[in-house]
Amino acid sequence: MTVDRILPTDEAHDLLDLATELADRELAPKAAGFEERGEFPREVLRTVGRAGLLGLPYAEEHGGAAQPYEVYLQVLEILAGRWLAVAEAISVHTLSCYPVAQFGTDEQRKLLPDMIGGELLGAYCLSEPQGGSDAAALTTKAVRDGDAYVVSGTKAWITHARVADFYNIFCRTGGPGPKGISCLLADRATPGIHPQAAERTMGLHSSPVAQIAFDDARVPADRLIGGEGMGFTIAMSALDSGRLGIAACAVGLAQAALDYAVGYARERQQFGRAIIDFQGLGFNLADAATQISAARALTLAAARLRDAGRPYSLEAAKAKLFATDMAMRVTTDAVQVLGGAGYVADHPVERYMREAKVLQIVEGTNQIQRLVISRALAKG
Ligand SMILES: Cc1cc2nc3c(=O)[nH]c(=O)nc-3n(C[C@H](O)[C@H](O)[C@H](O)COP(=O)(O)OP(=O)(O)OC[C@H]3O[C@@H](n4cnc5c(N)ncnc54)[C@H](O)[C@@H]3O)c2cc1C
Repeated sequence: MTVDRILPTDEAHDLLDLATELADRELAPKAAGFEERGEFPREVLRTVGRAGLLGLPYAEEHGGAAQPYEVYLQVLEILAGRWLAVAEAISVHTLSCYPVAQFGTDEQRKLLPDMIGGELLGAYCLSEPQGGSDAAALTTKAVRDGDAYVVSGTKAWITHARVADFYNIFCRTGGPGPKGISCLLADRATPGIHPQAAERTMGLHSSPVAQIAFDDARVPADRLIGGEGMGFTIAMSALDSGRLGIAACAVGLAQAALDYAVGYARERQQFGRAIIDFQGLGFNLADAATQISAARALTLAAARLRDAGRPYSLEAAKAKLFATDMAMRVTTDAVQVLGGAGYVADHPVERYMREAKVLQIVEGTNQIQRLVISRALAKG
């Protein structure tokens, strides 16, 4: 279905047209094969970068396109509908550029054009084997030694762990709790950084995640972002933006599932009529269409707050929660609409359903989003 969008500028319309054309040409035909082979689409991401779609929300002086977040998210939504792993990679990469873009020194920001342009790919290393939802309990240590920090510990579930060119490492430079956490920017080539074997995931096979062992890795002290003790603030601020990216991915994925299910239900005949004409099925598709529109509206409303420089953490949590729960429901229902055909890999909906699950987990599980929202309600 064509989505009727109100965009702020003609340039934004052109960008969405470009994204759609690129998604149809470069993403859609390749997704199934790469997912099947579990192959990371590095070249596809370079193509996306060269088309200018990797750094959309960042300043032009840093190699970005200075687009409002609401435009960036709609581009992401379109790409997610063709290949979630690529959209998720863009979302994670955008998140990985955020600490330097927002909190970096002028010297550190000189790295941004290569980062944002897509020549370099980023990873965001917050989670640990023992510290997932409770990120403030992280234990990866960084000890100052002359002109460097010596980093030791293990990060878990890191998207791009084995393929990234740079890492944001959230590590402990001080005492317990959030105030003891700092953020370092490390190059892939740093001795002592050892990405481990990829996890065998339920979906997103072309986007491998892995643990990273830090074995006394020396990261230059001038790669400390925002000062010692700023790490947790940086991490949470980045996640507010990142959650909107995940919400947009969820909307795109759900729209793709609905479009496929509707196409199938209009063709498939049972009892002498198209199955979409059975009210039980048609109403289910109507609910899905409504929920997708609601999730898109919620996500874009949060993005517009961000674009206006207003607080948006709470609205980002709501958007992430609603959009990803919605995507799980809609993709599961899409499988049901196809009946037996929904359960086999000949149709993409079984993949969409597997992929939707991870969106409820990453960048703060949906329980954590509920925690953020309920705490705000309790505070009044
Ligand atoms: C494919 C994939 C990619 C990822 N990519 C990255 C990445 O690039 N960088 C990165 O840093 N991390 C990444 N993650 C990690 C992800 O952010 C964590 O998995 C997530 O934050 C949850 O942490 P956990 O897995 O340790 O679960 P846990 O924190 O152990 O949670 C287990 C369960 O307990 C629930 N729970 C925990 N605390 C509470 C509470 N207070 N109230 C209610 N329920 C609670 C959780 O919601 C969950 O259901 C990725 C994960 C996956 C699966």
